[in-house]
Amino acid sequence: MFTPQGSGNPPPVRRDQMEPDQRRSGRVDPAVDRAVIRPVLFDAVLLDRDGTLVEDVPYNGDPEKVRPVPGAREALDRLRAAGLRLGVVTNQSGLARGLFTADDLRRVNARVEELLGPFDTWQVCPHDDGDGCRCRKPAPGLVERAAAALGTTPARCVMVGDIGRDMTAALAAGATGLLVPTPVTRPEEVAAAPHVARDLPAAVEEILHRQAALRPTAPRRARTVLVVRSDSAGDVLVTGPAVRAVAAGAQRVVMLCGPRGRDAAALLPGVDELIEWPLPWIDGSPHPVDPDDIRRLTDRLTRIGADEAIIFTSFHQTPLPLALLLRLAGVPRISAISDDYPGSLLDVRHRAPDGLPEPERALSLAAAAGFPLPAADDPALCIRTDGLPPPPARLGGPGYVVLHPGSAVETRACPPELAARIVQVLTAAGHRVAVTGGPDETELTARVAGDAGVDLGGRTGLADLAAVLAGAGALVVGNTGPAHLAAALGVPVVSLFAPTVPFGQWGPYRVPAVRLGDAAAPCRDTRATRCPVPGHPCLSAVEPGRVLAAVRLLGVPADAPLPVGVPATVGADPVAAGGGSAR
Ligand SMILES: [Zn+2]
Repeated sequence: MFTPQGSGNPPPVRRDQMEPDQRRSGRVDPAVDRAVIRPVLFDAVLLDRDGTLVEDVPYNGDPEKVRPVPGAREALDRLRAAGLRLGVVTNQSGLARGLFTADDLRRVNARVEELLGPFDTWQVCPHDDGDGCRCRKPAPGLVERAAAALGTTPARCVMVGDIGRDMTAALAAGATGLLVPTPVTRPEEVAAAPHVARDLPAAVEEILHRQAALRPTAPRRARTVLVVRSDSAGDVLVTGPAVRAVAAGAQRVVMLCGPRGRDAAALLPGVDELIEWPLPWIDGSPHPVDPDDIRRLTDRLTRIGADEAIIFTSFHQTPLPLALLLRLAGVPRISAISDDYPGSLLDVRHRAPDGLPEPERALSLAAAAGFPLPAADDPALCIRTDGLPPPPARLGGPGYVVLHPGSAVETRACPPELAARIVQVLTAAGHRVAVTGGPDETELTARVAGDAGVDLGGRTGLADLAAVLAGAGALVVGNTGPAHLAAALGVPVVSLFAPTVPFGQWGPYRVPAVRLGDAAAPCRDTRATRCPVPGHPCLSAVEPGRVLAAVRLLGVPADAPLPVGVPATVGADPVAAGGGSAR
């Protein structure tokens, strides 16, 4: 795991370290400049045209009417200078409707480039809603095509747009979505967006800021590093990319986790040794502090002989009690995110910007501690799949849909009555559906599976669940650990996301996904673990037909043809969720 110091990359040079005449004249070696700001997270930024790059003139076929939004040229030039490639991804149904010609469109797009500079790819959907194409947003086809044309993957792209359709297309392709609302953007579209910026320059600032958050300080190499992430399986899985970053610069990685995260930690690449210990200042239902237990933990930490420790936490968790024990255990260098004053407990006190996705928050701490993610490693979630058991034979081969209705946190579970109706609608449309749940959820899974689904409730262990998910076409699930497990396996997620925590921080990361549920419900941002609103309306109002439409948007084919008499589209379409404009 020890990565030799690379000779291929020139050392980073900051602008303030350049020769003065270099700064003045701007004569900077382009190769060096790229190395300074080489993209970590993203290779490309894809932009919607009308309403995002230029003012929206409905069905515009006239180049004279092209008006860039304020600050667009300068903002795009910042992205170009940062080494990001740019693409335009635009619905132009005016072509299908005969409202302008292909030649008009070419002249309008040429005018856009004349005013805003060159784009590396243009992806245009000429179809209308009724055409059933895979490219018209909110379908993910244009985003996928743009990524391919730029020689990258959707996960390494940000999609910037002004309406829900742009965000749905981005998420369904596995890209990052960033909404820049205009006066016509509907409030529910703003509420549902993973990330929101007030205008295009602010969106560009946020993209560059996220890249910069992962830029390392001086890279380190260490013998033994202790990484800590207490709490649940999901918390451990989203820390995985940061653990890989540490492993790339360390000979040995020891991970300290809690009982609920142990199975997940055992699946993380880069972990050499595991220590399971409940931490009463982190655990959601903690035991009283036992002095003997704390003494034993301190002894155990001493025996690791770590050169340094990195304590990963989420918002509202404190690293400081453990940092004190690590000091008592003689660990010489300790890094953590802490808003609270750490005194002499931390050597690297890192501050992460608000709103970062959890994996990036952890990666930013690893980078600040001197462990950047190697360029060859994409920051996606990942687990080791060697040694996973085979999926149960009765699922009949890959391509089924998995529904996981439960959650340790009540507010994030899919209401059982809704889950049962989702199984009925999916199976009626020809999908095989497996229902999963832990040993204490067998009653729930039996009820939800009914006669139509395959009840896999009671299977123990995360590895068993991973084995089932590995063969799935998609997972339907709330905001809970299995969503991150699916993301780590590259399995698309239909996310029934209670908005108690921000979707942009906790949603499925870098994997195709569809978000369902009322993002503006009164429980929004309450961090509640029990639903504060009678009837759990943020999720219980989801139409099962929208889950079916989401599964289709994610490209999961049905196994059986539709029975006679069942309509091809059931209920509302997620398309409608983003349909604020006729574009
Ligand atoms: Zn199309």
